[in-house]
Amino acid sequence: MTAGDVDLFVIGGGSGGVRAARIAAGYGAKVAVAEEYRLGGTCVIRGCVPKKLMVYASRFRDEFEDAAGFGWTFEGARFDWPVLKANRDREIARLERVYRSLLDGSGVQIFDERAVIEDANSVRLASGEVVRAGRILVAVGAHPTLEPPVEGGELAITSNEVFDLETLPERILVVGGGYIAVEFAGVFAGLGSRTTLLHRGDKLLRGFDEDVRDALGVAYAARGLDVALGLTLHRIERRGGALAATLSDGRVLEVDKVLVATGRRPNTRTLGLDRVGIATDPVGAIPVDDHSRTSVPSIYAVGDVTNRANLTPIAIREGHAFADTVFGGKPTLVEHHLIATAVFSTPEIGTVGLSEEEARRRHGEDVVIFKASFRPMKATLSGREERTLMKIVVQGTSDRVLGVHVVGHDAGEIIQLAGVALTMGATKADFDRTVAVHPTSSEELVTLRTPFVVKHPVAVG
Ligand code: NDP
Repeated sequence: MTAGDVDLFVIGGGSGGVRAARIAAGYGAKVAVAEEYRLGGTCVIRGCVPKKLMVYASRFRDEFEDAAGFGWTFEGARFDWPVLKANRDREIARLERVYRSLLDGSGVQIFDERAVIEDANSVRLASGEVVRAGRILVAVGAHPTLEPPVEGGELAITSNEVFDLETLPERILVVGGGYIAVEFAGVFAGLGSRTTLLHRGDKLLRGFDEDVRDALGVAYAARGLDVALGLTLHRIERRGGALAATLSDGRVLEVDKVLVATGRRPNTRTLGLDRVGIATDPVGAIPVDDHSRTSVPSIYAVGDVTNRANLTPIAIREGHAFADTVFGGKPTLVEHHLIATAVFSTPEIGTVGLSEEEARRRHGEDVVIFKASFRPMKATLSGREERTLMKIVVQGTSDRVLGVHVVGHDAGEIIQLAGVALTMGATKADFDRTVAVHPTSSEELVTLRTPFVVKHPVAVG
């Protein structure tokens, strides 16, 4: 490619970068994308999509167990990791091809190599070639950290390598208490690994509603996960073919794998940001304004590299808004509050809006709670004890629903629609006048009438 040739050069072919490239090309811009690994980014290649396929696999255990109460008998049910891995990898390869053809179909030029910023209007490819660009979009994502450094940390794996395991570990130690640790601990436990989840805090999922955190803790313990709280990992050593993990209380766990999921950091090192004077924040993220523009007017950044809300749908929105704003003549802002999310633990979690604790911090006494904890209908015959939680956080004076929290089957599916209601500014009265779909679990969200009386008020202020 000769110099001066593209209107937009996108560094990073993940969710945000690909969306931005396609939309900008649709507006007639000449666009190129560079991706050093595989098109699709973390979500498609080693994140949300393969993870969710593994979550599905892990949940068949429940189905087989529950089926007995409904008259079914299964003999010899057996799980085969290599079959799951091969089928999953085939699907991911298909999706990667879809991403490539979407870019091709939009007329976007693809460079399958690393690119770094050379100056405010050019990037340097790994081949040495320099491409000039009217605008540069940095959409390089983030990577798992192996923090804090522990002795023998190189023996651990992260959420990158977990997808490459050739066999299902019989025993696994998962370190962390966030989305990734909680989800993978659930997956491995469901698939049959003896699973220990080690977290430095007193409960999993810091920042989530306390009732949700409690419900998950109870459910994971009941499912046989060893949830070790208030502890950290000190050391990992080889012990024969296994690993010995020493915890901060001196306990030594013998396991086959240690999966560390203690957070992710933006991929900004050696990207050439210093050459154009873009300073990153303390975690390495690129500061941007509301239109995803960096301190250099021709350079923008979207997705996890900006560490705003590290979720695929947000990266996609940011990429789309960037293209609309810069190439479509339609200035578009992305809302970063009121984001519905799911944690694909088993049981699943869906949440949107404020937790009870955050609502009380903001609104003091002016908060009314509605909640129900119950065994879902399926449990009447399956005998499963696990409970479902439905919780609504309401502002008393305005009647506005501030948050909805669900733990149980299909919580992610349920919360998507609760998200629509909250985005529209729904009040509790709107929920109440909505006719229930019967018999479902989610009908609780429109039939809860009695405020929950707080027996032990949460400290406010
Ligand atoms: P998170 O930031 O969610 O969680 C990190 C966890 O590691 C926390 O429990 C944290 O503890 C713990 N931790 C951090 N530093 C240390 C340390 N030095 N020692 C011990 N423990 C530590 O990161 P994840 O890696 O789980 O996920 C990254 C992001 O990916 C998420 O924020 C989310 O946005 C996204 N994601 C979303 C998913 C979804 O939507 N379903 C699925 C997977 C990822 P503490 O709480 O005490 O800080």
